[in-house]
Amino acid sequence: SATRETLGFQTEVKQLLHLMIHSLYSNREIFLRELISNASDACDKLRFEALDNGALFESDPELKIRIGFDKAARTLTIIDNGIGMSRDEAIANLGTIAKSGTREFFSHLTGDQKQDANLIGQFGVGFYSSFIVADKVTVLSRRAGLPADQGVKWESGGEGDFSVEQVERAARGTEITLHLREGQDDLLSGWKLRALIRKYSDHIVQSIVMKQEKWDEEKKEQVVTEEDETVNQASALWARPKSEISDEQYREFYKHVGHDFEDPLAWTHARVEGRSEYTQLLYIPAHAPFDLYDRNQRHGVKLYVKRVFIMDDAEQLLPAYLRFVRGVVDSSDLPLNISREILQESKDIEAIRSGCTKKILGLLDDLVANDAEKYKKFWQAFGRVLKEGVAEDMVNRDKVAGLLRFASSHADTTEENVSLADYIARMKEGQEKIYYVTAESFNAAKNSPHLEIFRKKGIEVLLLSDRIDEWVVTHLHEFDGKPLVSVAKGGLDLGKLEDEAEKQEQEREAGEFKELLEKIKKSLGERVKEVRITNRLTDSPACLVADEHDVSGNLARILKAAGQ
Ligand code: ADP
Ligand code: MG
Repeated sequence: SATRETLGFQTEVKQLLHLMIHSLYSNREIFLRELISNASDACDKLRFEALDNGALFESDPELKIRIGFDKAARTLTIIDNGIGMSRDEAIANLGTIAKSGTREFFSHLTGDQKQDANLIGQFGVGFYSSFIVADKVTVLSRRAGLPADQGVKWESGGEGDFSVEQVERAARGTEITLHLREGQDDLLSGWKLRALIRKYSDHIVQSIVMKQEKWDEEKKEQVVTEEDETVNQASALWARPKSEISDEQYREFYKHVGHDFEDPLAWTHARVEGRSEYTQLLYIPAHAPFDLYDRNQRHGVKLYVKRVFIMDDAEQLLPAYLRFVRGVVDSSDLPLNISREILQESKDIEAIRSGCTKKILGLLDDLVANDAEKYKKFWQAFGRVLKEGVAEDMVNRDKVAGLLRFASSHADTTEENVSLADYIARMKEGQEKIYYVTAESFNAAKNSPHLEIFRKKGIEVLLLSDRIDEWVVTHLHEFDGKPLVSVAKGGLDLGKLEDEAEKQEQEREAGEFKELLEKIKKSLGERVKEVRITNRLTDSPACLVADEHDVSGNLARILKAAGQ
């Protein structure tokens, strides 16, 4: 027809398709999980938009997903009556990758299939995984609310381009037809498809229906009938008792809510009763998404009210420093017609937010105590984000501080594995403070002249070189009653760590070199406040020190770089 157009895939999509077909073949079954996951999301989106506009349900309010197959045509179909796509949405959603960090992701690919397959998992495969098993994919869709003549047909062989065409389509939602590649015929079996649905998609809340099959005595084979049958449990996983949920089911549910290809690192599932009643099923992913630092990133915690989906990524449910958490919260108290505005002021949400925060911090404490390897993995992926909590969350500041890990002069390596508690346990006799140095790199911190006296005396110093560390120490003044002190600030008072002889020596020298100090001060003029004799150096002749209440040298550098 006149409206048919052929368009090229974004370069990154082409690369992704090529890689996926070649490296994920041994995992080919996951295409079904991904397409069902999308169908379920589309139903959720319709529900959400229908909160303001009930007409979107048209005359078809029961949301469901249908799976079918046609042996003769060698096709599989996945149909939903969710939100659907307009022509423009089909082009944008099925022709490009909108994630920030996409370009960076592709620059990490090595060409080594095993390694790249692993990376692809971290990136997320989604819709494009259809092409693992299909050499042609046809998508028919109509967006809820648009007239029947505004349907769209999208089609591609998964090579360089795809076509889009305006079509007539009475049914709302999306129908995806996979034309199977050679050798994929085992998928054309009701038994096989049911097994895959139960394995990967049992937790999907909408019904996943298939036509029932019956044994035909004459043909001596299973034949498809006209009766519908729901294949999955179609009940909210989080509402089931914990004892009835297997780890495998928890993991598969995570892959759907977390839009992740890999298993989660840990999860916590609890029903909270009392003033505010809700169920929480929260996961910590095993790796950071590519858009962790993107303020617009989606896919956080989903909010349900009495098992009815309300919204995705309800950011009020957790503080920003826990934005890596995925999962669902299901409230028994909130009204079904809640809006984002109401969420912001709701006392119930406040209680949920503080409860979820405590749960996640508790889960992390648990990892620290029982699974050091996992905590290490967590720290590598999300440590920098967790650090924001020291500034953001006054109520839980000490808890968050206890979870922080730093590099220190104890091991002198870049690895951040020293907790403040470890540090305190190693403090010298008479030591009352936690000492740290901040610098723009680990090496600058490690080699700071300010450390010389500490190294000589065998006092451990935390080596801070993350940008965010400056922020951490401006908000964290003490831990467990021990003040945190920069080794580069103020007159260094080592207190009881300094012996009498050293003090007297310093006073004697101050007198002896008075003239020299004045001379240096005069020649440096406005650039310094003061010139002092010090015992902080053992090898270097001189160093710069910030005043107790001034910004540190490193922070000054950061602010300057940020244009302030
Ligand atoms: P993700 O699900 O992580 O967003 P996908 O590659 O799985 O990534 O899907 C890309 C996008 O295509 C989705 O975000 C959605 O906008 C659109 N999409 C895919 N399947 C459907 C569907 N069945 N109904 C409506 N939109 C869909
Ligand atoms: Mg998806």
